[in-house]
Amino acid sequence: MTSTERSIAAAEAHSAHNYHPLPVVVATAEGSWMTDVEGRRYLDMLAGYSALNFGHGNRRLLDAAKAQLERVTLTSRAFHHDRFGDFCAALAELCGMELVLPMNTGAEAVETAVKTARKWGYEVKGVPDGQAKIIVAENNFHGRTTTIVSFSTDPEARAGFGPYTPGFEIVPYGDPAALEAAVDDRTVAVLLEPIQGEAGVLVPPPGYLAGVRELTRRRNVLFIADEIQSGLGRTGRTFACEHEGVVPDMYVLGKALGGGVVPVSAVVSSREVLGVIAPGEHGSTFGGNPLACAVALEVIAMLRTGELQQHAAELGEHLHSELRLLVGDGTVDAVRGRGLWAGVDINPARGTGREVSEQLMARGVLVKDTHGATIRIAPPLVISKEDLDWGLARLREVLEG
Ligand code: PLP
Repeated sequence: MTSTERSIAAAEAHSAHNYHPLPVVVATAEGSWMTDVEGRRYLDMLAGYSALNFGHGNRRLLDAAKAQLERVTLTSRAFHHDRFGDFCAALAELCGMELVLPMNTGAEAVETAVKTARKWGYEVKGVPDGQAKIIVAENNFHGRTTTIVSFSTDPEARAGFGPYTPGFEIVPYGDPAALEAAVDDRTVAVLLEPIQGEAGVLVPPPGYLAGVRELTRRRNVLFIADEIQSGLGRTGRTFACEHEGVVPDMYVLGKALGGGVVPVSAVVSSREVLGVIAPGEHGSTFGGNPLACAVALEVIAMLRTGELQQHAAELGEHLHSELRLLVGDGTVDAVRGRGLWAGVDINPARGTGREVSEQLMARGVLVKDTHGATIRIAPPLVISKEDLDWGLARLREVLEG
């Protein structure tokens, strides 16, 4: 048995089968490259579903983590610690907002946004108790908790996990008229991904986000932007909402906020909105812990210069112009995305997304399929043009068969 086979057999035998990973066992990683237990190298074109925007083993993040590991890692929020205030101030400033509520995972942050919006609805907007409605979009992906899967339209994510949490209405993504029709006096929030990642990197029609902003403002409804996957540089801007000049009422952040080192998520909003949460009403033992804050502070410092966003925008133009050349050649049906983020729909005659991902793996490139026919390309934002071109050349080879 090879080391790869041994590792996979142990995982198969002793872990719940809630994922279907590619058959590669990673041992080490640096920058945009990973090395498996047999010493084979792979270009990482997935970046931990956009958690590794700064690459593997980023020196600044590792140094920040190591320094903090030696000082203090956890206090719980029972006490203050000396990185917490700095982290909240820095993140609020990056977002142009006032208050931060830190959690750990993306799903927890979405839950936090849902609870906050409901409470804001009752206390500020004056919605009758227990009546709050939140509008979400078809094909959304906001996480895996019971409340979040309650408003998923993906049977795989939802079926078998009821009873479901009420209080959500689902409208088609990218359709302003449907959204307008769904808003009523009980509506407290519209929760959207500015670009739908898991659905296949679906970019809404131009003007949609600006329209959502106008409608929500006019109807006194919170616009919650789930930027967990789209945010923090991925699209070539700090936030995907910026492409339409939109500032939501609440950002939901995760993934890259922890730099791929520690799980860090947060809800960032105004005093009026996050101010409704009082002591004892919400929290998490690890939310806002010193190690998380130290790493996230370094993440925010790197984003503040705008260099990474600029690099992602420039290289993203190149990525998309190269990918567009593949459309219509019989192997690729469509390409979508923005910045260093793309969904590539493989023509079914060429194979499934999974098959193409496995063939790319055999040539030293790691991507992952989503929803059968689509492969998602989302390399670390620090990737060089040479490495990106190398990965794209492998993709062309695979598609040409
Ligand atoms: N929201 C969006 C837009 C996501 O892409 C994800 C994860 O892919 C989540 C929420 C859930 O994040 P987590 O897996 O950290 O709970």
